[in-house]
Amino acid sequence: MQAKTGGKHNSSQSEIVYVVDTSYFILGCRIGDGRIVTVQDVVEELGKFDELNAAVHVDVEAPSSEAVEGVRTAARKTGDYHKLSDTDTGLLALALDYKNAGESAPIITDDYAVQNVAVGLGIEIAPIKEAPIKEVVEWVMVCRGCKKAYREEELGEMVCPVCGSEVRRKRAGGHILNGGL
Ligand SMILES: [Zn+2]
Repeated sequence: MQAKTGGKHNSSQSEIVYVVDTSYFILGCRIGDGRIVTVQDVVEELGKFDELNAAVHVDVEAPSSEAVEGVRTAARKTGDYHKLSDTDTGLLALALDYKNAGESAPIITDDYAVQNVAVGLGIEIAPIKEAPIKEVVEWVMVCRGCKKAYREEELGEMVCPVCGSEVRRKRAGGHILNGGL
């Protein structure tokens, strides 16, 4: 890990930290001020990290295991658990660690599951190209065979424990966040 001090110094304010996912690099985004952090999984997904890092300075950090657990708990609540990759979970956990330390660390992603869990955790989100979501969507798991509905946390895998049919995610509802993000 390398601490970066940018060209511009703003002595009284702490630097904004942006947590970025793979699409940030693929889409070639640029952030004006602020420090850019990501997790090792993103570096591995990208492959050519050194080349990319020569153009944009990025710090690779590891989230705490407490934050990873916090993200998993939040994702189970919103029903996004099965949609989050380990990379997604790591990025959210990193943003959560910064938030818990009282620092502003928006997560930059176009992934709706990541955005949904971030909103649930009170983490700021900054989408790359799509509009940010304004509501937290809750999902319910419904068996395609017997139509029994489950909470995501009740299921180990997407198979109905009663009849053995495939279980699908369905939108259960959501609530609009007042004032947006
Ligand atoms: Zn069933």
